[in-house]
This record gives sequence, structure tokens and C-alpha cells, in this order.
Amino acid sequence: MVLNINKNKYRHFFSVVIAASVLLVSGCGDEKQTQTATSSAKAQSYQWKMVTSWPKNFPGLGMAPEKFAKYVDEMSDGRLTVQVYGAGELVPGFEVFDSVSQGTVQMGHSGAYYWKGKIPASPIFSSIPFGMTATELNAWLHYGGGLALWQELYKPFGIIPMAGGNTGAQFTGWFKKEINSMEDIKGLKMRIPGLAGEVLKRAGGIPVTLTGGEIFSSLQSGAIDATEWVGPYNDLAFGFYQAAEYYYSSIWHETGTALEFLINEKAFNELPKDLQKIVEVAARAVNQSTLDEYNAGNNNALQTLIEKHNVKMRTLPSPVLAELKNITAQVITEQSAADEDFAKVWASYSEFLQSMRSYNDLTLKEYYLNR
Ligand code: CA
Repeated sequence: MVLNINKNKYRHFFSVVIAASVLLVSGCGDEKQTQTATSSAKAQSYQWKMVTSWPKNFPGLGMAPEKFAKYVDEMSDGRLTVQVYGAGELVPGFEVFDSVSQGTVQMGHSGAYYWKGKIPASPIFSSIPFGMTATELNAWLHYGGGLALWQELYKPFGIIPMAGGNTGAQFTGWFKKEINSMEDIKGLKMRIPGLAGEVLKRAGGIPVTLTGGEIFSSLQSGAIDATEWVGPYNDLAFGFYQAAEYYYSSIWHETGTALEFLINEKAFNELPKDLQKIVEVAARAVNQSTLDEYNAGNNNALQTLIEKHNVKMRTLPSPVLAELKNITAQVITEQSAADEDFAKVWASYSEFLQSMRSYNDLTLKEYYLNR
């Protein structure tokens, strides 16, 4: 019995060796060809252009594409270089998606919720009111099936999306007058993008869409009564404290906003395998690095705003937050009914959010109170 087993083992071993030798012999010619193809592809260099929705070199948002260009240049030893353009330098901030889709440029850096007019489900990949935190969103994107759904959604436009940084939780923003009840939201003209803008509209407000560079003058002139932007790190850089008195720190409308790299699919497919991997790894590195930068920068900037610029900090009253949450649920139900893709992505997102909520209720929620 024992002998038979050993015999079988040897028989199996020899058949594996023979099969491997056949593979090696028959593969030799192909391998040579592949090597030649690889060396010629490696000798080639690629110059890409990346358009963005942010002012050039702006803290966090604008540094993410610069970091990407630096990482890629260094990792590829100059074989892939990326020239970064600020909003309006080559194309306006809101034309990033179309420019990448049409192949005018090879890459873009922006936020997915800017494309909700074209792709109703896109805001889910950026931020949804009362949604996931940055850590939860990254887990869903990279280990919960989110990124595959995102890629499927952009495929008809010839774009490969990749997570391109996260701002962490964003502040409600800057207001010229205090918000004490839902009544104060009626007629309020506020710069607020994505689904949160729709929520504000249903609460009686008037959502306005403006790129970052347009906000300060609109707030200062009174064209808008309030604005959200990001959080202390970015808001200090824009000087909003000079145009509005109250800063609301409540987190509801952008709970962990993902930025995105948009890559023209054809341009990506033309790269040799090693440069494709460098692009993917650089994007992943920038995604984490940007979140780290925000986490480190926000608290310092908040202290400066309070101590140096005497900003008046406020939070939204609980009944207002509860109402905004109710309206958000209605908006999501309607979006799911109106758009098949939205329903599909939301099903995956909300299932993941539920499981994370249960987990965090048992762990971090208690820890935040106890530490
Ligand atoms: Ca924002």
C-alpha cells in the first residue's frame, strides 16, 4: 500500500518534469521575441499631460498630482514623465473628464462628484452625505469591490479611474450668518457640490457650483452667503476667514472625500507592463500620502484660524443634522430608482457601510470617548 503511494508520487513528479521541459523548449523562441519587444518598449519614453480641477500646487489637492508626477518620474528613471496643469491652464477645471475621455490629454486629477450630470452614480466614488469615512472608503474601493464598479462605470468613456487621495472628513463650511434652525437654510445661497447640493436644495437652499478659484470672490462680494470647501488645511490657504464670520465644523456632507486620477485607457494600454504597474503603485502611494497630509495639516490650520484669525467656531444644531439626514435618504432612494448604475453601486456601498458601522460601534466609537 505504502509502496503504491510512493510509485504514484514518482510518476506524478516525472510527468511534471516532462511537462515543464516541453514548456521551456517550446517557449524559447517566444521568450526571445518578448524580450526584444520589452527592451524596445523600455527604450521608449513617454510624455504625458495631466489636467486638474485645482489651482497649481494648492496644498493637498494640488500637491497630489505633483507627487504622482514625481513618483512616476523617479520610479521609471525618466521613462514616463507627467506635466501637471492647474485648473484653467490648459482646460477649465470642470472639463477634466472630457479632455481625458477624448484623449486630448492622457491624465486628469479631480473629484468624481463633479461628473454627476453625466454619470449619476459618480458621486458615490467621491463622497455621499452621511457616508463612509476615508478609511472605510479606501477599504471598500480596494478590498470591497468598489474600484471594479468604478472602472466599469467609466469604461464607456475610455477612462480608467484610480483613487487619487482623500481629504478626510470635510467641515460644513463658512457662513455669513448663523444657522440655528432649518428656517435659516431657506434661500441660503451656498457653494456645495454633488448630492449634498441636492440635499441643500430640498432643504430650501440654493446650491451653487463653483471651482475652488472662484469661491473667495463670490463669498466676499455676497454673490453667495456660504461655502463649503474642504477643511482647515485648505480653507486657511484660501483665506475664507476674511469673507465670512462663522466656521461650522459639523461633518455630514463630505465624510471622507476621495479624489481621483483619470487615465485615458488607450494611453495606458500603450505603456509597457512595468510602466503600467508604476502608474498604479504611484496612484496608491499618492492616495495614502494625501490623506496623511490632510490629517497632519488640518489641526495645525484650525488652531491658526481660531487663535490668529479669531474665527467663530460653530456646529449645526442636532435637529438640523437629523433633517439633512432624512432628506439625504430620500435623495438616495430616488437616485436609485432613477438610475440602474446608481442602484447597483449604492447596493455595494451601503452594504459595506453597514458592516463598517457595526464594527466601529464596537471599537473606535467607544475608544474615541475613552482615550
Ligand atoms: Ca468640499
